[in-house]
Order: sequence, then structure tokens, then C-alpha cells
Amino acid sequence: MTQQADVVVIGGGPGGYEAAIRAAQLGLSVICIERRIHKGKPSLGGTCLNVGCIPSKALLDSSHKYHDLKAGYASHGISTGDIGLDVGAMLARKDKVVDQLTGGIAQLLKGNGITWLQGSGKLLAGKRVEFTPHEGEVQIIEAKSVILASGSKPIEIPAAPLVDGIVVDSTGALEFPEVPKRMGVIGAGVIGLELGSVWSRLGADVVVLEALDQFLAVADRAISKETQKILGKQGLDIRLGARVTATRIEGAQVVVTYTDAQGEHSETFDKLIVAVGRRPVTTGLLSADSGISLDERGFVHVDAQCRASVPGVFAIGDLVRGPMLAHKAMEEGVMAAELIANHHAQFNYDLVISVIYTHPEVAWVGMSEERAKAEGFDVKSGQFAFAVNGRALAADDNQGFVKFVADAKTDRLLGMHVIGPSAGDIIHQGLIAMEFGASVEDLQLMCFAHPTLSEVVHEAALSVDGRAIHAIQRKRK
Ligand code: FAD
Ligand code: AMP
Repeated sequence: MTQQADVVVIGGGPGGYEAAIRAAQLGLSVICIERRIHKGKPSLGGTCLNVGCIPSKALLDSSHKYHDLKAGYASHGISTGDIGLDVGAMLARKDKVVDQLTGGIAQLLKGNGITWLQGSGKLLAGKRVEFTPHEGEVQIIEAKSVILASGSKPIEIPAAPLVDGIVVDSTGALEFPEVPKRMGVIGAGVIGLELGSVWSRLGADVVVLEALDQFLAVADRAISKETQKILGKQGLDIRLGARVTATRIEGAQVVVTYTDAQGEHSETFDKLIVAVGRRPVTTGLLSADSGISLDERGFVHVDAQCRASVPGVFAIGDLVRGPMLAHKAMEEGVMAAELIANHHAQFNYDLVISVIYTHPEVAWVGMSEERAKAEGFDVKSGQFAFAVNGRALAADDNQGFVKFVADAKTDRLLGMHVIGPSAGDIIHQGLIAMEFGASVEDLQLMCFAHPTLSEVVHEAALSVDGRAIHAIQRKRK
């Protein structure tokens, strides 16, 4: 049987479902193929909604509440009784949030007249797509345009093969039935730090083993130093320059061997999370004659507007170059749909926000000071701490700072970097400012509401020119 559609989207994650919805809004007939079965049920929303952004944030929020309650609110004059922990209930709440959101996406597709085909899609030559349902016969769909959005999956390393319930990837780390006494994490990337924080807050002794000598090498140095200090104080034992070379199971535990500058060491853990990065999913996605080329790292090769090597075929999200982030996938999906409908569309890859949802949160957009210097800018920068901010002090949540990086010649903002309360939200002020090409002076001249966390943004902009009010500034202008 042959079906036809203006657009076939393979993959119903944040990239794929947003592409499908936008294409439908633009009047195109759309089929979205998604094969995921989550907890026994077909599910849309991809990694992000099922086993990524959303469940990890649900556990980060639950564990933060537990940790705060445990630490006590005595300074606020609030006394609490015995604090209990029901990990099963915590996981069930997370599952409920996931169900609500994935169900919502199914409703959105339905409401937009999009056909969701449950099973696997494969691109053949000539923009034909082979659909293999979970049950039933293979079908061929003839598409005018195709959007490949098959996402990514965790990288496995030979040194640490997964062992059910003991050595797990990020998905397994969302499902521990009880708090491990001692837990290892391989990789101090965003996922390793977030999941390490969840179980550490719930009471596990957590050791993070990171092969690189530098912590959070992608972030501005001032931010990565502060993050390392704060997470260390929270109890995460972060060991840098520590490359895991082997693991072996002993009873219900795992013995991890790693090497660092001092030689070889071993550690025994109840659970080990392997969080060493993700790789694009291309297996079974493309027929040998599909005409789609991959780049040297196995991503589908695309241009700046996500066009793949066959006219009319686009690829987006974790399947293609760039940061593996849901919001990047979403914007690429919308861009691809717009281009298919012959609209003008582009995406500013220079301004993709990064957020680490630890507490305090860490977020940045644009260039770090180091990168701006390496790119030849005459850099000026300034930062301001939450420590003296009235709102942050009132909330007893006043660690961290805001930092701006700017071009000293033109005053144009180049980057914003935040560690502190609500950093993941505050950072959008920098995004909007930079999208509009703002100068530091533009921010300096604005009136920020008092008392708010955002006053730190204002003061950080002022401090770039030595003008912050609530600090004794050594450089003056
Ligand atoms: P995916 O979400 O991976 O979706 C692709 C879908 O395609 C999958 O559901 C898969 O089943 C389906 N598929 C694959 N091949 C086929 C096929 N041949 N036929 C049919 N279906 C197919 N990002 C953030 O921005 N913020 C966060 O806070 C964040 N937290 C994360 C936490 C964790 C623990 C993890 C693992 C990831 C996190 N991410 C976060 C990353 C984010 O989840 C991904 O960047 C995002 O999901 C990528 O979207 P995508 O649409 O490209 O792919
Ligand atoms: P990310 O790619 O941001 O998810 O981070 C993954 C991290 O895992 C990187 O910083 C890698 O350096 C680190 N990593 C990869 N392999 C190993 C290993 N064998 N031992 C320790 N860390 C590793």
C-alpha cells in the first residue's frame, strides 16, 4: 500500500513534533513516524519528554525540596518534624509528569490533523519512506519533503558495559528504586552533574570521574571555577584527569578502575552511571541508496538551514551538528517546516543557551571571555554577585554571580554567564539583548525592578564599566 504526504517526519521528539506541528499550521499534510515504547505504551516526545529533560528536572526538583527540608528552615523560624523519603512515590510523580506531557503532544498532533504512525521509518531513494509498524505490514509513503529527526542515544564505552540495575546510562539513573549508598558517575558533563546531584541530595555518596583535566571546559572559566567550588561543597566528589579504564561486577556492586596523574586507582560503588555523551541515531534510518551523507562523526551532514544532501530532505536536532539540546532541536524543526513551505527562515546558532539545572543553576549564552579573546576581540567584562542582592538574601538563595563579556571597542555584548538562583530563566535577558544587538550601555540605562534577582544583571552590566552601585569598584568610568 502506498500513502502520500507533503511532509513525513521521522522521529517524534522535540525536533520532530515541533516540525510536524509547524508544517501542519502552514497547511501541509503531515505524517510523523515515532517508534518509541515508553513503559509499555507508544509515546511521543522523544528523549526529552520520556527519559531526558523532563524526568531529570522532575527528580531535580523533588530532590531539591527534600534536601532543603532536611537542611531545615530554622533560620526562617520554621521547624519541621522527621523528614521521610519515599523514592517510589518520587519516581511515580516523575512518571505522571512525563505521562501528562507526552499525552499532551499526542493531543496536539491529533488536533493539528497530523497522522502519527507508530513504528519505524526508513528513508529510501526518491523521498520515499518505508514504514514498519510495530504490528502489521510494511508500507511505503511518498513524500514531497522529509524531515529526519531520529535524535540520539547514550554512548557506551568498552570500559564500562551496562549491567542491568548496577551500571546504567542516564535512562537507568532515573529509575533507581532506592538511594544508593555509594554511587559513581563517569563524565562530568551536564547530564552527569545533574543526575549526580539528584542522588547526592537524596543521600548517596557520589564520586564523579572525569577524564579531562579541566572542569566544564565549554563554560567561561569564572563560571566553571565557581560551579566546581559550589558542587564540591555540596558533597559531589569530582575527580578530574580521571579516566575510567575498566569495570567489574562483584556481587551487587561494581568495581571501577581509573587512572590519573598519580597512577591507577579503584573504587567500589553500588551504582555507576555512564554519562560520557550521546551519539546520533542513524541505524536503520537510511537505505543504502538514500543519497544522504553523514559527516566524519556520524551525524547527518546538513547546511546552515538543515538541508541534507538530497533536495527536499532536512535533518534536525541531535541527529545533526551543534549542541544536543531540546530547544535547538525545536527551532531547527520549525525552521525546516518553514523552509518546506517556502518561507524565509534561519536560526542563530551563535545564541543557543546552555543550562545546567543544578542548584544553583548555571547558564550561559554567547561567547566566554576566553573564546572572545581567542577570536581577537578587545574584551571587557564585569560581574556582580547575588551575595548582596536583597531578593536573593531574602530568599536565602544567594550563591553565584552574573558576568558579561563585551567588545571594548564597540560596547556590544558578546556573552552572558550566570551561576545563581533561576540562572536558566535570567539568562534569557542576555539572549534577548544580544539578539537585538544590545550594547552594555543599553542594559546600564534600563530601570530594573527592585527587589529582584534581575538587579544583579543590571549591576553586572554596570560593573563592566566600573559603575556598579552596590560594590566598591576599583576601575571607574
Ligand atoms: P530525540 O528527543 O532523541 O527524539 C528522537 C525520536 O526519534 C526518539 O523518540 C526515537 O524513538 C525516534 N526514532 C529514532 N529513529 C526512528 C526511526 N527510524 N523511526 C521512528 N522513530 C525513530 N536538553 C535540553 O535542552 N535541556 C535539558 O534540560 C536536557 N536534559 C537532558 C537530560 C537527560 C538525562 C538527557 C538524556 C538529555 C537531556 N537533554 C536536554 C537533551 C535533549 O533530550 C535532546 O537534545 C533532545 O531530546 C533532542 O531532540 P530530538 O528531537 O533531536 O531527538
Ligand atoms: P558530555 O559530552 O558533556 O555529556 O560529557 C561527557 C564527559 O565524559 C566528557 O567530559 C568526557 O571527557 C567524559 N568521559 C568520556 N569517557 C570517559 C572515561 N572513560 N572516563 C572518565 N570520563 C570520561
